Amino acid sequence: MPQQPASRTADVIVVGAGPAGATTAYHLAQSGLDVVLLEKTAFPREKVCGDGLTPRAVKQLLAMGIEPVESEGWIRNQGLRIIGGGMRLELPWPDLASFPDYGLVRTREDFDEILARQAQKAGARLHERTTVTGPVLDHQGRIGGVTARTSEADGTKGDEVEFTAPLVVAADGNSTRLSLSMGLRKRDDRPLGVAVRTYYTSPRHDDDWLESWLELWDGDRLLPGYGWIFGVGDGRVNAGLGILNSSTAFQNVDYRDLLRRWLDTTPEEWGLREENRTQQTRGAALPMGFNRTPHYTRGLLLVGDAGGMVNPFNGEGIAYAMESGVMASDVIVQALGRPTSDAKELALHRYPSALRERYGGYYTLGRVFVKLIGNPNVMKLATRHGLPHPTLMRFTLKLLANLTDPRDGDAVDKVINALTKVAPAA
Ligand SMILES: Cc1cc2nc3c(=O)[nH]c(=O)nc-3n(C[C@H](O)[C@H](O)[C@H](O)COP(=O)(O)OP(=O)(O)OC[C@H]3O[C@@H](n4cnc5c(N)ncnc54)[C@H](O)[C@@H]3O)c2cc1C
Repeated sequence: MPQQPASRTADVIVVGAGPAGATTAYHLAQSGLDVVLLEKTAFPREKVCGDGLTPRAVKQLLAMGIEPVESEGWIRNQGLRIIGGGMRLELPWPDLASFPDYGLVRTREDFDEILARQAQKAGARLHERTTVTGPVLDHQGRIGGVTARTSEADGTKGDEVEFTAPLVVAADGNSTRLSLSMGLRKRDDRPLGVAVRTYYTSPRHDDDWLESWLELWDGDRLLPGYGWIFGVGDGRVNAGLGILNSSTAFQNVDYRDLLRRWLDTTPEEWGLREENRTQQTRGAALPMGFNRTPHYTRGLLLVGDAGGMVNPFNGEGIAYAMESGVMASDVIVQALGRPTSDAKELALHRYPSALRERYGGYYTLGRVFVKLIGNPNVMKLATRHGLPHPTLMRFTLKLLANLTDPRDGDAVDKVINALTKVAPAA
């Protein structure tokens, strides 16, 4: 192999600078490793998302030294407002030792750039407009770098370049071409969601609750999923909906039309009508419950959506992208600090087991949940009879948002923790 210029060799290459990649790169750089972070777009850029952050994600922001103050455009929320079964229920985020008691909303246009710049400040070398085109493999099929194509601001193609490192992290999102080119396909036995969203100018832009609508009807079919209206704070709301693949509707529903029909049922004065729409309605898949494995193989670690980390209970992906980034970086730091390749490899195999320990039981429960609510009768029963019970709903909030204290929690925490422990790891 020809000698690479020093600027294109590193200890670790991270492919993709979304929340998973930026968080991984930040923590690796903080530990003193030389990290190259490759991103095909240039910031700021649009990213299809609901823009909602639960306390889990806030915790990860704080761990990156990002202080989400309102004067800098971070919109705080105090909990989840659930609408369904003729009820309107406000469930504050729980008081826990392990997580802050507030969530946030921030559009991904800003959010992803803030994270990527924080990684850069920590020392990661960010290359924007650099699309990774494939892995560089040795004769044993182990990754030792990537090929990439640069481009100019006006879109003209630049050079074909190569980056070299002993370890590569795939943080390239749901489509994860890099994992695919290493033979890692989506698993059919794991849940998947599809979600669409758009923005409207609306007087509800400064709502300090995340609002979820549990009843999405397609004619007389109740769909497994929910709609959301999240205030962005700048005069707009993000409104969207997500549906799970456990229903027959999944394949044959027109998502954009469904979103419009649902929003037409909301009060006129909220302004969620075509004339106030400020952006295109766009959608993407939600890869859930570890729907791509193994999370480590032959020098490649999968983080975030690339590893199918979205929470099947609520469609939240950012917190899990960031947490898996922290876990991957911990393992990489330990592995690279070991003297022999066998010892390094042993340390790297800790990553998939750590993921399974943390999320395996919970994601298995999530799979059961997805199957259950795919049945319209179960969904109906849950919205009609579950919502009127405040204690049950507090339990549900903690379960759906995965917010419990591990040891000293209350009775609800203990039940949820016990359930996730007895469920076989996904
Ligand atoms: C409609 C919708 C609403 C959602 N709402 C929420 C929500 O409210 N809250 C929440 O927590 N989650 C939400 N999610 C899920 C969330 O968006 C994802 O889980 C999250 O973005 C995953 O982060 P990631 O870093 O793994 O991947 P991504 O955010 O997809 O980042 C991948 C990055 O890799 C780059 N990339 C891709 N290929 C290459 C390549 N070949 N070379 C270089 N770079 C590359 C991309 O440009 C991108 O920057 C939503 C998803 C959808 C579709």
